[in-house]
Amino acid sequence: MTPSPPILFEGQPARPALFWRRGGGRHVVCEVCPRACRLAPGQRGLCRVRAHAPGEGLVLTGDRLVSALHADPIEKKPLFHFLPGSRVLSIGQTGCNLTCRFCQNHALSLAAGPSSTAIMLDPKEVPALARASGCRSVALTYNEPVVALEYGLEVAGACRAEGIRTVAVTAGYVSGAARAAFFRDVDAANVDLKAFSDGFYRRLCSARLAPVLETLLWLRRETGIWLEITTLIIPGQNDGDDGIRALAGWIARHLGTGVPLHLSAFFPAHRMADLPRTPLATLRRARALALAEGLEHVYLGNAGDPDGETTVCARCGAPVIRRDRFRSEPLWQGAPGVCPVCGQALAGRFS
Ligand code: SF4
Repeated sequence: MTPSPPILFEGQPARPALFWRRGGGRHVVCEVCPRACRLAPGQRGLCRVRAHAPGEGLVLTGDRLVSALHADPIEKKPLFHFLPGSRVLSIGQTGCNLTCRFCQNHALSLAAGPSSTAIMLDPKEVPALARASGCRSVALTYNEPVVALEYGLEVAGACRAEGIRTVAVTAGYVSGAARAAFFRDVDAANVDLKAFSDGFYRRLCSARLAPVLETLLWLRRETGIWLEITTLIIPGQNDGDDGIRALAGWIARHLGTGVPLHLSAFFPAHRMADLPRTPLATLRRARALALAEGLEHVYLGNAGDPDGETTVCARCGAPVIRRDRFRSEPLWQGAPGVCPVCGQALAGRFS
């Protein structure tokens, strides 16, 4: 049989995409995220990654082109209750389906296409590369991975088959059917919950809050995926007491008090370069509010605050994991993840 010729779109490698339908006339509609981009032939979606290739339908462009590849501490994702102290092979591509004015990673998220130094990485090569780099897991990270879910699910599938875990770092802005496919072989996720305000999502991200909450509920109720949440605290935008209480209270009531929340410091960037960075006092106040809502593990990121990075036992308050920036020092003496003082097991995946 003659193999079908490779698809190219504007000179980039591409492959037939999943999750789309004909959209009337000559259009197609992408069904990966709630934007449901309706694309004329030759047009790209808002994410810049999915495109309508004339004669082919919807395609994933930049297929297998990786623009960032690093072995990181797992704490950097951030995941504090998932294989602490291990290394993760972080894989980043380009593109995003949100337009956050405060984006801390816009060089990749908003790039017009794969970087000039991007490498072609076959998913089947990823587990061996992870092992050779001393990594127990692989992260789909740096840009939004759901926009290239065909690649992500192949990477996760290849890793699961070889005993390597997969981590997704995502904004969770994904439709129901695509969500189930994307997370099928994922073991842990850190989901950005940018604020507990639909107005915030609309004004600063041109998105909506509800689909993100749906993703969080689905992950917690329908899967065994380990879940942590990150909120970037932006001065004057989402740092008010009521908003922090609402966000933390919703997590505690609907996802559980054991779900770790990372409150991360904002750095002036992208279209919010005129704002100051988040003061440490603001982060500490937000942490106190979140703990008062019942969350057991609230951490501070990009803050250099040892108290805000230490994992304490939810029952007796004894330190169980100390951290210094991205280095973890587990304090358990027997089974991993068990409090050395009272024997309570920490929520998370430790072995
Ligand atoms: S994934 Fe991209 S192309 Fe598809 S609907 Fe979302 S922004 Fe549009």
